[in-house]
Amino acid sequence: MAGVRKFEGPIDLHTHSSVSDGTETPAELVQAAVASGLGTVALTDHDSTAGWASAAEMAREAGITLIPGMELSTRVQYSSVHLLAYLFDPANSALMDETARIREARLTRAEEMVARIGADYALTWDDVLAQTRDGATVGRPHIADALVARGLVLDRSEAFNGILHWSAGYYQPHYAPDPLQAIQLVRAAGGVPVLAHPATRGAAELVPEKRLAKLVDAGLFGLELDHRENKPEAKARLAGYAVRYGLVVTGSSDYHGSGKPNRLGENTTSPEVLDQIIAQGTGAEPVYPSAP
Ligand code: AMP
Ligand code: ZN
Ligand code: FE
Ligand code: FE
Repeated sequence: MAGVRKFEGPIDLHTHSSVSDGTETPAELVQAAVASGLGTVALTDHDSTAGWASAAEMAREAGITLIPGMELSTRVQYSSVHLLAYLFDPANSALMDETARIREARLTRAEEMVARIGADYALTWDDVLAQTRDGATVGRPHIADALVARGLVLDRSEAFNGILHWSAGYYQPHYAPDPLQAIQLVRAAGGVPVLAHPATRGAAELVPEKRLAKLVDAGLFGLELDHRENKPEAKARLAGYAVRYGLVVTGSSDYHGSGKPNRLGENTTSPEVLDQIIAQGTGAEPVYPSAP
């Protein structure tokens, strides 16, 4: 039951599997979380809940608490803002329709980007498909993997700093809802919305205090302040807003398997904050390990 359970071990509330752009299957990711000593892990694939079932099965078996979640793509003008959502109802039709729409837009956008890259480099859409699990939420990381497979770059980071960077001219945004609308959708589905890495370069400017206040009114519950990509100055400013607006502060790794240097548990969330998130979430239950 929420609030009475004592959480053992570190808590990492932001990870990706091959259901989106991580390199491990949901079951492998849960095993990696156990191996790295975590007591609780949230699976937060981009715009998809397709990994929940197999992650839950492995969590029960391997003895770790799983928080089902998602990282929703949202957009302010032409820039993306990420919203973590926990414990929402995965059958909520408004939220599921919206995530389907985003995944579809991501697919079209990736095809268009690859067509443009293909005019200058030996890269085809089939190369990208070869790097993408069936039904996965497609993103630039899959294009990066295809560039690596073609020997055009060394790793994902080189791709992101070069060909996939907006300044290279191939970048293109995709449809995503406004953060306010996304928060409303998550809350209506019983979920708990937390702004992902809100102090990164770009994100911090996209969420000035006035907008943040509106997001809080719509039901925003927390800020992911402990994240390796957050910048110290913006983080300090947002920490002040967290106090002013009564938001919880989370920390997490944003693990993508071997697709990013981020390591499981490199940032963590306190058990008290996890308790509050669980108390707020009414659309799904955490998955607790089976009693030994
Ligand atoms: P997209 O949403 O398709 O524009 O791609 C953004 C995704 O790429 C996010 O999930 C990031 O975690 C990932 N990403 C961004 N920069 C890098 C990088 N340097 N190396 C690997 N993955 C990255
Ligand atoms: Zn990602
Ligand atoms: Fe993100
Ligand atoms: Fe992420």
